[in-house]
Order: sequence, then C-alpha cells, then structure tokens
Amino acid sequence: MSYRLYIPGPLTISESITKAMGKAMVGHRSKDFVALYEDMQPKLKKMFATQDPVYLSTSSAWGVMEGALRNVCRKGVLNCMNGAFSDKWNDVAKRCGKYAEALQFDWGKPVDPEAVRKALATGKFDCITFIHSETSTGTLSPIADIMAVVREFPDVISIADTVSSFSTLPINKDELGVDILLTGSQKALALPPGLAIFAVSERARERAKQMTDRGYYFDLIEFHDNHTKGMTPSTPCISLLFGLQQRLIEVEAEGLENRFERHRRLNDQVRAWAFGKGFSLLPEEKFATRGLNCFKNDRNVDLERLNKILKSRHKLVIDGGYGKLKGKTFRISNMGDETDATIATLIAALNDGLAEQGM
Ligand SMILES: *Cc1c(COP(=O)(O)O)cnc(C)c1O
Repeated sequence: MSYRLYIPGPLTISESITKAMGKAMVGHRSKDFVALYEDMQPKLKKMFATQDPVYLSTSSAWGVMEGALRNVCRKGVLNCMNGAFSDKWNDVAKRCGKYAEALQFDWGKPVDPEAVRKALATGKFDCITFIHSETSTGTLSPIADIMAVVREFPDVISIADTVSSFSTLPINKDELGVDILLTGSQKALALPPGLAIFAVSERARERAKQMTDRGYYFDLIEFHDNHTKGMTPSTPCISLLFGLQQRLIEVEAEGLENRFERHRRLNDQVRAWAFGKGFSLLPEEKFATRGLNCFKNDRNVDLERLNKILKSRHKLVIDGGYGKLKGKTFRISNMGDETDATIATLIAALNDGLAEQGM
C-alpha cells in the first residue's frame, strides 16, 4: 500500500527522483562518476553558501554526527541539547570516549547563546555541537547568535546539524562561520535515507590531522583527499547520488529564494489550520522551524486513531510525536516537494479525521 508521508522524514519520493535513481550504474572510480561528483559540487556549494568542499557520505546523518566528533574533539565537547536528536549527541560523544558535557534546555526551547558563552568560557571545550532545527520538537535555534558567541573562542570547532532546516530557509555556512555543517538526504531534500552531505572548513581539517584515532570510514582527511579527485573514500550509494543530482537540478530550477518562500508559505498554511482548530505550537512561535510544525495535542486527539483514518481513507500519514512527546504532540512536515495542492489535500484529510472524533 502506498501512502503519502507527512512525517518529518523520510518523505514521499517524487517520480523524477525515482527515475533518476534508476539510471544505469557506473563504476565509482570511473570518469562518469567523477563527472557526476564534479557536476554537483558547485550546486552544493551554492546551497551551503560556502567555498569549502562538500563531502558525500554513504551513511545516515548520524554517521557524520559521530564521525565529526572523532575528527575534531580532542579536549572536550559541549553538547547543546533541547530535544531527542541533540540530547542523543551527548550520549554518542561519550560512547566515542570523548569528554562531553550537556548544556541542557527544556524540550521546545531554543539553545540560549548566553548559556553557550558561559559554558565555553570555562575553557573545557574545543568543540561544540548543536542542532539548528530540532526535528523532535520543531524548534529552531538562533544559529547566527550562537555562532557569534562560538567565534569568540577561536579554539572551538563548531558542528551544526541542519537535517530538517537545510534548504527550507537561508543558512549561509561561511558567513556564519560554522566549521562542519551537515544534513541528511531524507528530510528537507526529500531523497531516500542513507546519504549525509556535509561541508567542512579548513580549520576543522587541520584539527583532524592532529587526531590519531579518527578511524577510517568518517576520516575527514580521506574525504578531502578523495574529494580533490572527484571521488569518495569508499563505494558510495551511487543511485542515491543520481537522485541528489536530480534534486540539485530541481532546486536550481525553482530557485533557492523561491524554495524558502514556498516552505514558509506551506508552513504558515498548516499553522493557520491548526490554530483555527485550537492547537498551539510546542515552541514559542518565533522559534518554530519552517520545514515542519510540532503542535501540542491541546485537544487530546487520539492520534493513533486519527492516523489510522488518514492512512486507510486518505492514503497519507502524519507523525504522532517523537520519543517522550509521543501522544502529547503531533508533527506535520512541509519539507521536500510539498505544494499548495498537497497541503490542501492534507488539511482536508485532517478535517475529516478530526470530524470522526467529533472535532
Ligand atoms: C532525522 C534527524 C537526524 C538523524 O538522521 P539519521 O538519518 O536517522 O541519522 C539527526 N538530526 C536531526 C535534526 C534529524 O532530524
């Protein structure tokens, strides 16, 4: 049974992407592969707003989230935490044997730059992690303000996760001064899961060179050496790269600014519907992200029952809350290829599903 995914990743894959991914295979050390890789670089750099190389990793985002720490965290990492993904990063750092401290904020609250300054001023850290758009709570942290603080500490390498914000709103890597900016394939880019895309500063590479236990699969120096030849360290998911190439063509055709505007407009449409139905956002509205909305289940909707109706009657699903927010919140994605028409279809289905519960 096929149904449309309005969960915050993975998302429904468009026909054009599916078709691109079905292209005939090429060897990963062939000229055809180098042409594919080099065709994508300028477009990726433009999307990241960076002059730095953009590497491609056959792994989900977590591969690079863990790998980045192994490459640049020598002394200690400050993990800014305000939701399921950012909280887990602290656990991952410890599992890698790193000295890691949590800078915890309530779920649904953004990272506070002043608290970051205070923590970094202790001198205990040479790297920091934070998530721009906490997908579990739909919360956007003020990346420019956070980075302004981080840049006061020249020793600190910054690692920022933009998995659910990348390409939904402007994120200018070089202007912000983020060292390692990463995203994944299955959220805002609406590709199948399994690919992480990340841009890395020279500073971060210099740090990596000093690390003796950075391993192989996520070694930034391996990525860079291969990058200069238009390749990846090991055999990548080439089909997915064909999909990415198609995605980049489509983004360019739409125009980045238009893409940002579309996501904002569709996000507003979902918000307006939910507010009209008596639901409120989990985060304060000015800190709410734009590729999805996380609403409080203010009206005690039976979310499982709602999703059953959405799926069986309307061939679509939303998300009924992540981790400890399951049942208490629901999340609706407007990332990827959503349009005014697909959001209107969703809203009509939601109205039907809520009517079934007398709402
Ligand atoms: C989905 C998500 C991840 C994890 O991505 P995987 O592809 O499952 O590794 C990490 N960070 C954020 C913000 C996410 O939304």
